[in-house]
Amino acid sequence: MKVQRDFKERLSPAVQSIQPSGIRKFFDIAAKMEDVISLGVGEPDFVTPWSIRESCVYGLEQGYTSYTANRGLLELREEIARHYDSVYDVQYDAATDILVTVGVSEALDLAMRALLSPGDEVLIPEPCYVSYQACTILAGGVPVAVPAKLENEFRITPEELEAHVTPKTKVLLIGYPNNPTGAIMTRKDLMAIAAFAEEHDLLVISDEIYGDLTYGGEEHVCFSALPGMQERTLLLNGFSKAYAMTGWRIGYVLGAPDLIAAMTKIHQYTMLCAPITAQLAAIEALRHGEKYMKKMVAEYDRRRRLIYEGFTKMGLNCFEPKGAFYIFPDISTTGFTSEEFAEKLLESEHVALVPGNAFGACGEGHVRCSYATSIDKISEALARIENFIKHHRR
Ligand code: PLP
Repeated sequence: MKVQRDFKERLSPAVQSIQPSGIRKFFDIAAKMEDVISLGVGEPDFVTPWSIRESCVYGLEQGYTSYTANRGLLELREEIARHYDSVYDVQYDAATDILVTVGVSEALDLAMRALLSPGDEVLIPEPCYVSYQACTILAGGVPVAVPAKLENEFRITPEELEAHVTPKTKVLLIGYPNNPTGAIMTRKDLMAIAAFAEEHDLLVISDEIYGDLTYGGEEHVCFSALPGMQERTLLLNGFSKAYAMTGWRIGYVLGAPDLIAAMTKIHQYTMLCAPITAQLAAIEALRHGEKYMKKMVAEYDRRRRLIYEGFTKMGLNCFEPKGAFYIFPDISTTGFTSEEFAEKLLESEHVALVPGNAFGACGEGHVRCSYATSIDKISEALARIENFIKHHRR
């Protein structure tokens, strides 16, 4: 008979201290129910465009099944460098400034492990992506939450950051367009953050995975393209969201040569390289994927407008998202906590969303809905949520 031993106390304190992601919890419950509409996970409902898939199939036919250079295929790194030069007018050297990773997830983990010593503090505007605090803690750092406010469209200001700086602050981690709020930062906003980073000599990790997903004429501002910021910024990006490539696990990090070399050392011993098939597909995405990406963005925009209108009509206080594919309505007027709202809605109306407190304490009172799902499903989900609010308002 298999003997079940309890190893909890032998686990590393850092691992013991972090909680499983609040996103997955609801996803797992919903997966066991019937007739569920999920606005829960942040994943495009599109399949990767065919020409991108085909480049991978073709690569396999040609026998591309080996490891690549640790930093990734030079051809891909050159394509990434060209992309940043042409879109954002910021220059990266393919030989020294770019590391291809297994998604932004790996890039984030590497960045934290390369930069942090025990006790170093990382300023993290919240609400934010669930991995930011966990990766900080796992690397021995201390996450310091800086709450962003709905009144300020969830943008962060230098004054708010300033209030949390200590002599131990080493890194500022920002992620715009933002998951879960859909907030963006204007050039002016980011210039102020840049001055703040300079004043305190902070390294900046900028997660720009949603940079291609902006709406209503808003243009994404690349943080490392701001004057003086390239040298102190690790810019993370990937293909999961803009090219509907979540399952391929491919991303990259751009930065100063010594930082990239340090991250490459960890990557070399832990991951070795990103999958060659995904790298071939990524080259095709950068070369010919833009037209497909623009179509998907236009569709997200239609859905964004529908879901924003829906929540506003229900009388919920709701910031109109300007980027990514999430909306973050305030449900506090219902009298439920975020968790209660999400649980009861799933139970009674079979709609899955994520409680706002999964993205930091200041997300309490909100829920995150992903609109990376069809118009029909969004319409049906809105009708169910409206029904739920009518019958359950406390
Ligand atoms: N960063 C943000 C802000 C995200 O929302 C996600 C995924 O949801 C990731 C990073 C992870 O991306 P990847 O699939 O490239 O690992």
